[in-house]
Amino acid sequence: MVKHQKEQTMIKKNGCVAGISHKEQIILKGIGGSPGICIGKAYIVDREGVALVKRYPVSEEDVPSEINRFKNAVKHASDEHKSIIASLNSDFRDQLDILEAHLALFKDKMLYGKTINTIKTDKINAEWALKKVLRQVKRTFMKVNDPYLKSRVTDIVQVSEQVMRHLIGAQDIKISDINKRVILIAHDLSPADTIQIQLELIKGFVTDRGGKDSHTGIIAKALGIPAVMGLGNATHKVENDDIVIVDGLSGILIVNPEEDTLFTYEERRALYENQQAIRARESHLPAVTLDGQQFKLMANIELLEEVVSVKDNGAKGVGLFRTEFLYIDLKRLPSEEELFEKYKEVVDLLSPMSVTFRTLDINGDKVLPYMKNAEEENPALGLRAVRFCLKRPEIFITQIKAILRVGAFGTIKLLIPMISCVEEIIQVKVIISRAIEELKTEQKVFNADIPLGIMIEVPSAVIIAEELADYVNFFSIGTNDLIQYSMAIDRSNRQVAHLYNPMNPAVIRMVKMVVDAAKKKNIEVVMCGEMAGDTFNLPVLMGLGLTHLSMNPMSIPAIRQMVTRLDTNETKEFVGKILNMRQVEEITNFLTNRYDKVLAD
Ligand code: PEP
Ligand code: MG
Repeated sequence: MVKHQKEQTMIKKNGCVAGISHKEQIILKGIGGSPGICIGKAYIVDREGVALVKRYPVSEEDVPSEINRFKNAVKHASDEHKSIIASLNSDFRDQLDILEAHLALFKDKMLYGKTINTIKTDKINAEWALKKVLRQVKRTFMKVNDPYLKSRVTDIVQVSEQVMRHLIGAQDIKISDINKRVILIAHDLSPADTIQIQLELIKGFVTDRGGKDSHTGIIAKALGIPAVMGLGNATHKVENDDIVIVDGLSGILIVNPEEDTLFTYEERRALYENQQAIRARESHLPAVTLDGQQFKLMANIELLEEVVSVKDNGAKGVGLFRTEFLYIDLKRLPSEEELFEKYKEVVDLLSPMSVTFRTLDINGDKVLPYMKNAEEENPALGLRAVRFCLKRPEIFITQIKAILRVGAFGTIKLLIPMISCVEEIIQVKVIISRAIEELKTEQKVFNADIPLGIMIEVPSAVIIAEELADYVNFFSIGTNDLIQYSMAIDRSNRQVAHLYNPMNPAVIRMVKMVVDAAKKKNIEVVMCGEMAGDTFNLPVLMGLGLTHLSMNPMSIPAIRQMVTRLDTNETKEFVGKILNMRQVEEITNFLTNRYDKVLAD
């Protein structure tokens, strides 16, 4: 990244230090990933290092030293790799096996020998030679049908990226190591990167990639930091230490703001924070509509640390605990005991509130870097969530046992993600029975009678919702994925983010089908997708008959306030009209006109 920095004057206004730059103000439009406004200095995290390799010729007499440079990089990368292996606990054979296999690849003929030959024959720099060899390897392996051989490409790519980082001297920036108050500007942040963010240091972030309701945005909301995503090329437009304004409410990034812009945004930020504070103060009040219908507003959480926010925002329980982040954070598979301890801590802290534990939902956009999986062309449609768990029953059963055990110490529910057919839920039940048998044999304390629910987030599950209801105690509608899968929109892809809208008539009608099926079969139905946490959608959800909503804790105060200003009968009549509409714009205009005043408040 270019570190060039022009002169900046620092001024002090309203007690805060703001930098007015002499550079031109740039306004970039992206997607609001997490609400809120922050102003601060940019810190660029460039994760594209490997793609930015340059080619240059090497003279005949410099070839030996170029080869030595390559050999040194391989040595440093493999030493680093060995120290990672040494730090791993021997209980984790799976990860050890992969890392040891990678170690052998550093000196593999295909990579090592060929790169050295390419430097010699083409007389080019080591980076370019490695890149060229890698391209050939990829081409060769892509023609092979054998999935094992195909998966070896991923191993080779990972190993060569490690070598490349040493060659180009790039540092793999660890977000957890950043030690100043900044706004992160990144090409992309994975959910795993995002959970490393230290709240007292990172004010907000923006990314080139990412779309609406991606997991990275969900974590940002959970952390309560403003984020704008899907900016395309922010990492090329912003320089380190530029002053930037992140407006996560409108999805705007302003680089080098002019003085007027800066003051306008200071005011907006103060207003927003004030509103949030007022709502938070009222958050313990009941969520009851004008006609007396009680709503249950619950929280979605990912980490133990969010328990405070659940309480502060007046949630009446955790409607969705995304358990995969513990697996990501730990950097290895946790044992049953570790899971039990962590889950018990959450349950104890929230008691007597109920906690819904959703079983591991990995792959898709939440990969466990240490798990060896076959390369998938379409990970979102691949071995994700329950599909992965049913393929790896030993991992699944470990988690189920920990959840059943914690059920003896509080009110909990068990939720299975991504169910797409009856067969899957039958198989899940077999695993639960096995877990119960094992716990009995091991004479551990547990609760076999925990309500079982499934996420309705795949269109096939909507269609057979009535049949699925015969196997479970509750449904939880996951609109983030339901929109992704029904509309065929990758939720992390900014190119198609314009199509991602919960007010699409197809989405509204699917939600209706699920609510109706649950009511007919007399089971509970909750909505836990991001759709549930947006005040704009509330009249529609209320009109469809939903009364249980789970959302990121920060959204609860605003939703609670809005619930108290609506009347269920009126929203039912209103939704009757919406169900006949065909286009998003028609629906959103109708909504805005009718609820203008309440929404404006
Ligand atoms: C959803 O898909 O709506 C959901 C709540 O689950 P996740 O966002 O974790 O995929
Ligand atoms: Mg989902």
